[in-house]
Amino acid sequence: MCMACIEYTKDKLTLNEFSFALREMTWDDKKHADDVAALMKEFASDPDELKKQLKLLADRSPRR
Ligand SMILES: [Zn+2]
Repeated sequence: MCMACIEYTKDKLTLNEFSFALREMTWDDKKHADDVAALMKEFASDPDELKKQLKLLADRSPRR
């Protein structure tokens, strides 16, 4: 989970801000960018569910 995801799951960013921040945060992590982009597309209309899925994604990802 990158800073963009963390801030978004804490309700500190709007979806638009999150999408912008994500591009900044994931320029060296294509895999994470793709994972999050897929979730964002799937749950665009359901921000609460998107936040839940981002947390699950973080739990699944190996710590770096
Ligand atoms: Zn992230």
